[in-house]
Amino acid sequence: MARFRLSTRLLLSHLLVMVVGLGTFTLIAKFSSPRFFVLRLEQLEQRGLVTVRSARTYLIDGFESAWNSSSLWSVIIGGTTAGGLSLWLSQRITQPLGTMATITQKFASGQLQERMPTTEIPELNELAQSFNRMANSLEGVEKRRRELIGDLTHELRTPLTVMRGYLEELSDGGLEPSPELYLRLVRETKRLERLTHDLQELSKAEAGYLPIQLQRVELLPLLRGMVERFQDQLIDDNPRLRLDCPVDLPMVWADFDRTEQVVMNLVGNALRYTEAGEITLKAWGADKCVWVAVIDTGVGIAAADLPYVFERFWRADRSRSLHSGGTGIGLAITRRLVELQNGQIEVESELDRGSTFKFCLPVA
Ligand code: ADP
Repeated sequence: MARFRLSTRLLLSHLLVMVVGLGTFTLIAKFSSPRFFVLRLEQLEQRGLVTVRSARTYLIDGFESAWNSSSLWSVIIGGTTAGGLSLWLSQRITQPLGTMATITQKFASGQLQERMPTTEIPELNELAQSFNRMANSLEGVEKRRRELIGDLTHELRTPLTVMRGYLEELSDGGLEPSPELYLRLVRETKRLERLTHDLQELSKAEAGYLPIQLQRVELLPLLRGMVERFQDQLIDDNPRLRLDCPVDLPMVWADFDRTEQVVMNLVGNALRYTEAGEITLKAWGADKCVWVAVIDTGVGIAAADLPYVFERFWRADRSRSLHSGGTGIGLAITRRLVELQNGQIEVESELDRGSTFKFCLPVA
């Protein structure tokens, strides 16, 4: 069936109803009235005894009765046909609306997997598509919320269990209080502290509450500052930290503090996962954007794990990261910060060879 707009359909359906009604009325009245009239005249002729005066009255009466019966039939047949047709057409239009109402009610009552079917009316299809887009996004939010609560409980449980274990042993007298023991407790508390801090940052970044002030930023001084800051913390210059950035690097459209935070997270990770060798902070201009890469010669990430590195709470090696105090949130925040500045972040890595994390920012 042709894809008419709803207004055209309604107009057409009414016109159709009118045409059918009037058409049947006229057709039946036009063809049957003269027949009835002729029938009456024939009856008159057979009698052959009527005067002109009485014949005139009889003729008019006859015609009137013929017309009346024709009209009655045309109204009955025309009305029924037109009514039936109108009912059928309006049902075709309103039925998808009824389905939509049922689906929205189900969705509101928590059945988030419900989706609108496609119909043959373009306006309703557009509505159904917008609803389905909204439903997908709401279902995603709900899924992430559930995952977050699950992950969070897991992350909180580990340090809490460790701390409770130590404290119980201390109170029982099973463990002697010692500076090492207190240091372990402090380490677990710090872990909880870092976790809550990272989570707060992540939730702000994901909800878009982190203020981002985009402006023209010169990357070279920013990267130089970063290298100097980290170099001061390195003992024996191991691993070596190097900057490879052309002096004529184009300015970028970014937030200075957030870009600094991104570089800091990436270099911090590179240092954490590189025992020896070199970490290079490299920048170069490309088509409409500037790339910044942090290249390390550290432990690397297995190819199978690469798709998950930017997911929150993901860690390649749980026990090692637990030891280093990693929460698995840093890269999730980093990716969000890059995206908020209209950039993108990528990773390449080879196990035991090293990793390259690179992000781009638009040229100002
Ligand atoms: P974490 O606080 O655990 O470092 P991140 O989100 O920053 O959290 O990193 C997630 C995981 O990705 C880390 O636990 C680690 O396994 C892996 N990873 C991140 N950066 C590197 C790197 N430069 N080299 C090797 N592995 C890395």
